[in-house]
Amino acid sequence: MSTPLWFDPSLCLIGGIWVPPNSEQTLPLINPSDGSEICQIARGNAQDVDAAVRAARTALDEDWGRKTALERGRILTRLGRMVLDRVEDLARLEAIDVGKPLTQARADAVALARYCEFYGGAADKVMGETIPYLDGYTVYTLREPHGVTGHIVPWNYPMQIIGRSVGAALAMGNACVLKPAEEACLTALAFAHLAQEAGLPAGALNVVPGLGAEAGAALSGHPGVHHVSFTGSVATGALVQQAAGRNVVPVTLELGGKSPQLVFDDADLDAALPFLVNAGIQNAGQTCSASSRILVQRGVYDQVKHRMAEAYGDLTVGPAQDDLRIGPLISARQKEIVSGFLTKGADLTVAGQGRIVDGAPSDGAYVLPTLFADVPPDHSLAKDEIFGPVQVLIPFESEEEAVKIANGTDYGLVASIWTRDGSRQMRLAKQLRSGQVFINNYGAGGGVELPFGGVGKSGHGREKGFEALYGFSQLKTVAAYHG
Ligand code: NAD
Repeated sequence: MSTPLWFDPSLCLIGGIWVPPNSEQTLPLINPSDGSEICQIARGNAQDVDAAVRAARTALDEDWGRKTALERGRILTRLGRMVLDRVEDLARLEAIDVGKPLTQARADAVALARYCEFYGGAADKVMGETIPYLDGYTVYTLREPHGVTGHIVPWNYPMQIIGRSVGAALAMGNACVLKPAEEACLTALAFAHLAQEAGLPAGALNVVPGLGAEAGAALSGHPGVHHVSFTGSVATGALVQQAAGRNVVPVTLELGGKSPQLVFDDADLDAALPFLVNAGIQNAGQTCSASSRILVQRGVYDQVKHRMAEAYGDLTVGPAQDDLRIGPLISARQKEIVSGFLTKGADLTVAGQGRIVDGAPSDGAYVLPTLFADVPPDHSLAKDEIFGPVQVLIPFESEEEAVKIANGTDYGLVASIWTRDGSRQMRLAKQLRSGQVFINNYGAGGGVELPFGGVGKSGHGREKGFEALYGFSQLKTVAAYHG
């Protein structure tokens, strides 16, 4: 697959100009399908971040800060159209960079366009309120941008995560500094080029690729940043929160999960089956909302186990350009992490396994998709985030037991309930400790419009939907006394 690089990937975007990093150093970007080097990217550091934050500040004080909500919305809408026109190019970049099968990469590019469209349309529809107050007063609220927002993005869904965080931040009139992941940053750079073409003023979006401990740490702790949006691991999220806390700056943390699907005896299994498997193996399981725990009531447990095992038997893993169900993991390091979990599962029953296609490059980061059965709820594989194509089946007897197991991890991002019993649907939707609950589906087709975020170690704050616009703004109350 040829690399459709139509820009220089070794530069940072600062104040509307593509510049080499201050360090004059670059980092290799690796294609996880075969371990080859794709190109070199900038190794941005604290000086680059500082320049980017200053450029963002200038944009707020000048052109970008003076745009009306309608004008901001029009730019984002235009950008959405341009992304749609380039879906194939963006998908190819993502496939080579992340190892994502092309069909999944195309879906991510379309989702990026959809975020631009959604937030483009929403930009001039965020309103304050009037508040009845004492006699002689008129009180109202204004939604204002934070100012400079920092966006630290991981490698698993660069396009979707940039769309949901940068899209909403720009719609509200913030100026952004984006730090993409060192493992995958090509679509972030491509998006920034398209944003320039769409007419986004200089400095409204700045991009500083680089290492987490250098550029990422500098961004989360920069005193000129007024809000930080982070998606990634719990450990790094805690560091980001500490760094931002020193400047008393709000953060949105989206830190992954151990999301369960609860399958009851009365569930429509034909409808459930594709969701049970796909939600666990999509993007090779490297999805914050991956459903890695399948809790099944005893009456249908054997049937679900058998049918999921069959589905696993059909799963093939191979290079992104082959467009199979599953591509490689992001890196040799991630392969090591996931293989470690598979080793931890040596004492468990393997119910089903996929296969790696013949001829898959030996330096690709491939692992066997694996379904474990009869897993005790307190086993590491049932509690810890694996971030690979691995699912566990856990049997349960009663509704109470199912809720206890479902709520029994540190995480709480997404949960789903498969049952025809309407009362149970409503009851469990309240009882499950989770930022999103789906009833007889999982993921609701991506859900650009649906507020998303976690409880517990899954993080805090909400992105997507209108809720993100509230998160990327602050409320001012104006109380006017006029007698
Ligand atoms: P990470 O959290 O370290 O990296 C995510 C982003 O944070 C990257 O852009 C990285 O450069 C940046 N970063 C790293 N250290 C930083 C620091 N000190 N300050 C500020 N930013 C920093 O994740 P990882 O090391 O790439 O992956 C490790 C594990 O994290 C995975 O195995 C998986 O379990 C989890 N993960 C979760 C998500 C998610 O969507 N929730 C995404 C990626 C990884």
